[in-house]
Amino acid sequence: MDAIAFPKCQKCGQGDLVPLSDFGNQGAPIHYKAWVCTNPDCGYNLKIRNGDVYINEPINSGVNNIRNRSNNNNTSLG
Ligand SMILES: [Zn+2]
Repeated sequence: MDAIAFPKCQKCGQGDLVPLSDFGNQGAPIHYKAWVCTNPDCGYNLKIRNGDVYINEPINSGVNNIRNRSNNNNTSLG
């Protein structure tokens, strides 16, 4: 099985851009919704939402989501 060659991150030149997929509101898969640099010091990301492309949005680590789960404040930004 050949390794897939991902495009190099154009920002840091060290990490690769890897495609991430998500699921829509109805559970429909959204393939390659976002591309994220694998270099943690870079964090460059590019994503599409409702036909618009967003570049280098701040990344939510997910730690906050776990902490906020107790207060049932489920405001999903989709
Ligand atoms: Zn990068």
